[in-house]
Amino acid sequence: MSTSLLYHAFNIKGVEYRSTCFLGKSIIFCTEMTNKFITCPCCKNRRAIFKGQKTRSFKMGPLGRKQAILHVLLHRLQCVACHNLWWPQLPFTDGKHRYTRSFALTVFDLLRFGTIKDVANFLHVGWDVVKEIHKSKLQRLYKRMPIHKIKYLGIDEFSLRKGHTYMTIFIDLQTGRIVHAVEGRSEDDIQPFLKQVAKKARHIQAVAMDMSRSYSSAVAKNLPGVDIVFDRYHIMALMNKAIEKLRREQQKNLDADDKKALKGCRFLLLGNYDSLPEKRQVKLNSLLEINKPLFAIHSMKEQLRLLWSKPNREQASKFLEQWCFDALAAGPKPLIAVGMTLLRHLNGILNYFPHRITSAAVEGTVNKIKTLKRQAYGFRDMDYFKLRLYHLHHQGYSLTG
Ligand SMILES: [Zn+2]
Repeated sequence: MSTSLLYHAFNIKGVEYRSTCFLGKSIIFCTEMTNKFITCPCCKNRRAIFKGQKTRSFKMGPLGRKQAILHVLLHRLQCVACHNLWWPQLPFTDGKHRYTRSFALTVFDLLRFGTIKDVANFLHVGWDVVKEIHKSKLQRLYKRMPIHKIKYLGIDEFSLRKGHTYMTIFIDLQTGRIVHAVEGRSEDDIQPFLKQVAKKARHIQAVAMDMSRSYSSAVAKNLPGVDIVFDRYHIMALMNKAIEKLRREQQKNLDADDKKALKGCRFLLLGNYDSLPEKRQVKLNSLLEINKPLFAIHSMKEQLRLLWSKPNREQASKFLEQWCFDALAAGPKPLIAVGMTLLRHLNGILNYFPHRITSAAVEGTVNKIKTLKRQAYGFRDMDYFKLRLYHLHHQGYSLTG
C-alpha cells in the first residue's frame, strides 16, 4: 500500500501512508495527516503549525474479502499569522462521519443489488449506517424534482399498511418518474403539490387518474384548463370488479355441481379473451353458454375494451354512449352500476383521445412499490420511504403512447 494507491483506490487525500496491520477480518492502514490543503478559517492564511494530535479511524469499504480501515493521526493546527487553533476537516469524509466518501459510494452501489440488510451484513456495519448513507445521498439527488417539464401527470394511490393508510403518488407519465408522494388521498392531502404544479409546470396538458371524486375535484380547482383523463386501466378494473361481484352472487344461488363449474373461472372471466389459450377459451365459452347473466356482462366487457381503439373522440363518444345504454338495458345489476358510473364520467373518459395517455404502467410502479415495502422492514421513516419511491425511476419507461 502507498499514499498514491490510497488515493487512486479509495480517493483518500490529505494523508500520508505510514504502515499496514492485519487484525482479524480487517486490514488497517495507518496514516498521518499532511499539511497540504490547509487554510486558516479565520484569516485564510495557508501556513500553520501542528499543535496537539489525536487518532481517528474511518471505514473504507472492502478490500478483497477483508474490511479496510483507515487510521489517521490528526493534528490540531495553529495559524502562523493569527494564532487561531482548529481541528481540520479531512477532505475524504463529510462532517463527523466515521466512514470515507468512497465507503458511502460503495454502499450506494451495492444497494442496487441488495437490500439494506444484505449490504449492512456484507460490509459489517449497522443497518442504520447503511440507511443514513442511502438517505443522505438520495436527499441530494432529489432535492429538486424536474416538475417544470411535466406534460402529462398521473395520480394514483396505494395502501401503506394493511388497513386504511394510503399514499398518493404523482407520476410524470412521459418519463415514468414518481415526482411526488404524499400520505393520504383526500383533496386536502394532494392540493399542496397540485399548487406547485400549477406554478411550475407551464406545459401541463392532462392528468390521468381513477374516477374518485377527491382527485378530480382537486385537479379541477388547482389546474383549471388542464384535461382530466379517467384512466383506461381503472375503468377496466371497475368492469372486472363488477364481473367478480356477479360471479360471487351467482355462485351463492347455484347447486353444488354448477358451483364447481364456476369456481375455477375467476381468472378466465377477468382476463382478456383474445389472449387466452384456445383450451381456456373453450372452457370459458361453455361456461358462458349456461350462464346468461355472466355471458351478458362478459361480452360487454369485451366490447368496452374496443373503446380505446377508436380513431377519434367523436367516434369514441358515439360508441361509449351506445355501450352505456346497452349496459343499462341488458341488466345484471353490477353491469348497470358500471353503465351509470361511466355515463357520469363520459367527458373525462373521452379526454383520452386528444392525449392518449394511460397510467397503466403506474400499476407496474405499484408492483415495484410492493417489492420495496417488503424489503423495507416497516419503513418507519416516511421521508426515507418517499425518497426510495423517487429513486424507483431508474427502472423507468415511457407511459405515453
Ligand atoms: Zn489565521
